[in-house]
Amino acid sequence: GHQKDTPGVSGRVRVAVRLRPRNSEEQSTDADFADCVELQPELKRLKLRRNNWDSDTFEFDEVLTEFASQKRVYEVVAKPVVESVLDGYNGTVMAYGQTGTGKTYTLGRLGDEDTSARGIMVRAMEDIFAEISPETDLISVSYLQLYMETIQDLLDPTNDNLSITEDPKSGDISLPGASLIEVRDQPSFVELLRLGEAHRFAANTKLNTESSRSHAILMVHVKKSVKERDVGASSGEHGSKSHMSRTMKPPVVRKGKLIVVDLAGSERIDKSGSEGHTLEEAKSINLSLSALGKCINALAENSSHVPVRDSKLTRLLRDSFGGTARTSLVITIGPSPRHRGETSSTIMFGQRAM
Ligand code: ADP
Ligand code: MG
Repeated sequence: GHQKDTPGVSGRVRVAVRLRPRNSEEQSTDADFADCVELQPELKRLKLRRNNWDSDTFEFDEVLTEFASQKRVYEVVAKPVVESVLDGYNGTVMAYGQTGTGKTYTLGRLGDEDTSARGIMVRAMEDIFAEISPETDLISVSYLQLYMETIQDLLDPTNDNLSITEDPKSGDISLPGASLIEVRDQPSFVELLRLGEAHRFAANTKLNTESSRSHAILMVHVKKSVKERDVGASSGEHGSKSHMSRTMKPPVVRKGKLIVVDLAGSERIDKSGSEGHTLEEAKSINLSLSALGKCINALAENSSHVPVRDSKLTRLLRDSFGGTARTSLVITIGPSPRHRGETSSTIMFGQRAM
């Protein structure tokens, strides 16, 4: 298996933490206060301040400071997952954190105005396009929103209540009726993302909710045909065509699926003060994030039982969890001492995943 070649990653979830720089408001209102965290990237450590004197220290697989570039974040968080998808495995990249800490910045930025700002979705697809041949290989994309346990198709708003089915034999997940759109080049992929964002905005306006209250889920299916020349020992480019065809086996098709999840904001919503719609939203977000947490903990502990059935989110991820699949989690935090409590619970979510 692929993961056996890579000691230390089998069955484990890779967890990186990324700190957002102070925004202009924090620069002025918190000017007299230290950040609530201090990062030691070379030691892969983060210190969370308790008060002026004491702090707790946590270790992560990667610690990304406010100076980390989008390129570096992609390379650390997503590139290994993208590579295994190209090798025919499933993989998931997720961002978890309080609203406003940089989940969408990290995953979803298109970088139209500035290519160095491009996020993980766009960079992943660029790497995928670089590795496939358009004549033989197939890339297709679905883009979904999961809101209050309802799955909406962001590429076709008329599909506003999709169901999940599971192949009893293979355990593979599919979404009958969801748009699965073939993309042939990078510009058409970026257009699909833009269309999805527009539909997401419209749907959330209609539902009178914020995009931070739902999960956005990008699924990229890669079908790559691999010639023996690329699989076995190198036979080089030498030799006549007839010689090649005598020694070549029929191409092998590798199927992989990449899922990128921009999770709903993890902040605790004051349930005592909310009622009706807001309370139902809060309950539903708590349900899916805690179900996700349980599954990730089970993976981290190499448990044979991963409780995927507790929420739609985890059911969707079922065939991309554990086994040969790779999971990478980036937790995003802000520097403000005023959000120390939320920052602390985000850090604990990340710690439990390791
Ligand atoms: P979330 O999706 O977690 O709610 P966003 O990605 O929308 O958060 O980020 C909130 C704000 O902070 C945005 O204005 C975004 O541009 C900015 N931001 C987030 N992360 C960074 C970063 N690493 N560097 C610069 N600005 C950032
Ligand atoms: Mg966001």
